[in-house]
Amino acid sequence: MNLPVKIVFLAMDAGDKLLIQKWAADGTLPTLHSLLGNGLVGETMSVEGLYEGSTWPSFYTGVTPAHHGFHRLTQINPGTYGFYQCYPGEFIKQEPFWNHLSSAGRKVAILDIPLSGISKGLNGIQMVEWASHDGVYGFHTWPKELKGEVRKRFGHHPVKASCDSYGRSPQDFRRFKDHLIEGVNKKCELTIHYMNKGEWDFFAQVFTEGHCAGHQCWHLHDPAHPNYDRKIVALTGDPILEVYKAIDNAIGRILAHVNENTLVLFLATHRMAHNIGGNFLLEDILEKLSLLKKRPAATTLKQQGMIKRVFNAARGKWHELPNSIQGTLKPALLPLYNSTKRLVVGEDLSSLSSRFDLKHCKCFPHKNGNLISGIRINLVGREPDGLIKRGEESDDFCQELSKDLLDIVVTGSNKPIVKRVIRTSDFFQGECIDHLPDLLVEWNEDILIGSKGVSDDKSCRLRLTSEKIGVVEGEYTYCRTGDHRPEGLFVVFGPGINPGVIGRTISIMDFSPTFLNLFGLTNPDLDGKPINEILGKEDCFK
Ligand SMILES: [Zn+2]
Ligand SMILES: [Zn+2]
Repeated sequence: MNLPVKIVFLAMDAGDKLLIQKWAADGTLPTLHSLLGNGLVGETMSVEGLYEGSTWPSFYTGVTPAHHGFHRLTQINPGTYGFYQCYPGEFIKQEPFWNHLSSAGRKVAILDIPLSGISKGLNGIQMVEWASHDGVYGFHTWPKELKGEVRKRFGHHPVKASCDSYGRSPQDFRRFKDHLIEGVNKKCELTIHYMNKGEWDFFAQVFTEGHCAGHQCWHLHDPAHPNYDRKIVALTGDPILEVYKAIDNAIGRILAHVNENTLVLFLATHRMAHNIGGNFLLEDILEKLSLLKKRPAATTLKQQGMIKRVFNAARGKWHELPNSIQGTLKPALLPLYNSTKRLVVGEDLSSLSSRFDLKHCKCFPHKNGNLISGIRINLVGREPDGLIKRGEESDDFCQELSKDLLDIVVTGSNKPIVKRVIRTSDFFQGECIDHLPDLLVEWNEDILIGSKGVSDDKSCRLRLTSEKIGVVEGEYTYCRTGDHRPEGLFVVFGPGINPGVIGRTISIMDFSPTFLNLFGLTNPDLDGKPINEILGKEDCFK
């Protein structure tokens, strides 16, 4: 059936550009092979240093994180030492592009755009988190009644909550992969169903399953990963490959329902590769540099220590149980095990004041994910117990700290662990800058680290040294073995688009103004610029 959709936007959340290019070229992904061969292809770059959390908000608002202010689900409350759960839909004050299209009378269907909220009153339909990698809200829709209809017809996505899990067996990984593929297929049916339901000006759907597979299964895909084990991979296969194949197939089935007058844009937002970094040692590093003062034996730490002992004892006993009993108990115990594990690795400790003597801290870790660590300077006039003055003092402080971090090497190899330290304000300026970390520490990609959450061997240990820090060491315990990189890929085809390759890198912020422009709308306040190679002739659908 040919549908009168004007623009179809399909995306693969955290779809890895290099894997897509490789598997499209060798025919493993036949739909993407055909799209990349016949469309206009471009490479993208996400926002500097903050792309783990800011990629999607910068995509749909067209502005930098200094304007939308979102970089993570747990954010600092500026002027305090407290972190809070940040809901992007409520927090981000910039309008997503679909609000502008809707106000201009365009009919839109916005399905599962990650890290976004419901736009009440939208001219069309919206689904938030029917499927998601980083779920914050649970499933919500506009209009509200749509939720019941979707549930009745398509049920739940088989991967319900967070995909993080510790101690997965090969069977668990296979089940996880099967659930992701089942989710892709359900989503494909859902997409085709709702595409058929209306004459959409703009229809968007995002596949998030590749994101989960990438984080959880990189060690089952990449033989260079320290946790790669041929015997285990013989049992699990490569879940990333299987999930990408399922998404490729789903995109093919969806595109069979659009006609030649539809402009189609496929985007793989940001990459996935092996986990990197010493984020888990940052606190110790700052302490050794005498910039951070930990409180001795804070109650929370005592509690954490106790939980840790109970947890480790339980884990020891668990492995002694026969497989049949483990199999029976696992579904009931796994959620409890995972939430306890999060406590043990410290994810749930939100208050800095209970852990650090902030009156004597020149800076402190500012959560920004594992990939690129954040540091916040304890600034006079901004932080309650600020120690460093803005201006020259702060500039000198950043310069010295950057040098000290760049001096740190991995014991034995002498390879630097830090690739680059940047000041956020050198890249972004805006009203939300104080919601972001001041310094961003990029870790060296060449140092591969195993996860203790996958296998308990020495690959998860990292031992760092420099003249100033002496020795700092520890273990990477988070279960994820894959993490992001900022590059992405897109391909567009349809009326007026000539096949080829765009010779420059497109910013993730350029898509919003491009979509607006295609419908004859402009917004001069955006940081992104319309992609002229796509527009060809302006205002295609005016
Ligand atoms: Zn991610
Ligand atoms: Zn996930």
